Amino acid sequence: MPAVPALETVDLRKTYANGVEALKGVSLRVEPGDFFALLGPNGAGKSTLIGILSSLVNPTSGDARAFGISIHRDRGAVMRQIGLVPQEINFNQFETPFDICVNVAGFYGIPRDVARPRAEKYLNELRIWDKAFQQTRMMSGGMKRRLMIARAMMNEPRLLILDEPTAGVDIEIRRSMWQFITGINRAGTTVILTTHYLEEAEQLCRNIAIIDHGNIVENTAMRTLLAKLDVETFILDVPAGFAGEALPEVPGVKLTRIDAQTLEAEMSKSHDLNSLFAALSGRGITVTSLRNKTNRLEELFVRLVEHGKPDQGRAAA
Ligand code: ADP
Repeated sequence: MPAVPALETVDLRKTYANGVEALKGVSLRVEPGDFFALLGPNGAGKSTLIGILSSLVNPTSGDARAFGISIHRDRGAVMRQIGLVPQEINFNQFETPFDICVNVAGFYGIPRDVARPRAEKYLNELRIWDKAFQQTRMMSGGMKRRLMIARAMMNEPRLLILDEPTAGVDIEIRRSMWQFITGINRAGTTVILTTHYLEEAEQLCRNIAIIDHGNIVENTAMRTLLAKLDVETFILDVPAGFAGEALPEVPGVKLTRIDAQTLEAEMSKSHDLNSLFAALSGRGITVTSLRNKTNRLEELFVRLVEHGKPDQGRAAA
């Protein structure tokens, strides 16, 4: 028997009072243990979807279930399964991280003698224990983001939802956040992530849904999605000296000069590189190194959202 999904939405619709149809029939399924990316441009409906799961928004119709429990049946039970890291920092800046964590545990009915060591554990794991007893307004933006994650862990959720958790956070802190989140995912927690850092989603997530104008336009394994992109772009480093020379014409390859030491070659995945190298050598241009341009997901995303939608048939009306 298939496992009960960590999250399932069935024809979920939301029309706000001003008439905006933020969700137009979203049906999604996230398996337990998954690391799932929800991507979409601004205004696509991501926050509305997350808001429904966290009881902040009432759906107009349809259902959402966490581990089989419907939001219409028992919102409290749904909330207990979920940890939410919202986009906006929304704790009291005059409280301390320790109190914020212990108090939120109180909402879930977790006794203080359980909550205190748990707060210490997560503040430690997120490397902000040394700030645990200072007012949070003294903390940096990256520390506040990590506190939001620690707070979301206080009910030890089976499903952790993170809404743009690394927006504006520097790379080192971002990495430590991902280390933590990858760790809890390995330990069994299902993770759903919305992010604008597409490379982050590409590296971390196993499955992906892309939402646009309230419709799911793609929902598949990350690997399958990336394989659809049959165009590959390489970045070639070349010695600075060739700058004035014309580039060779290579059939099937779009060769562009980026700057005096960099070329970009776009070609189909099945195209071989030999003809490109031969043509470049013919012009006396040596390639000193070659790498794959890593923004494939970004390219794909732009194509799906802006240039027609190959899987439109999957989207609920
Ligand atoms: P995203 O999180 O993907 O940026 P949102 O869910 O915030 O998208 O928004 C989806 C659409 O719903 C947008 O057109 C937005 O302007 C609209 N919207 C969001 N919240 C409200 C609200 N409280 N009242 C009216 N319209 C809203």
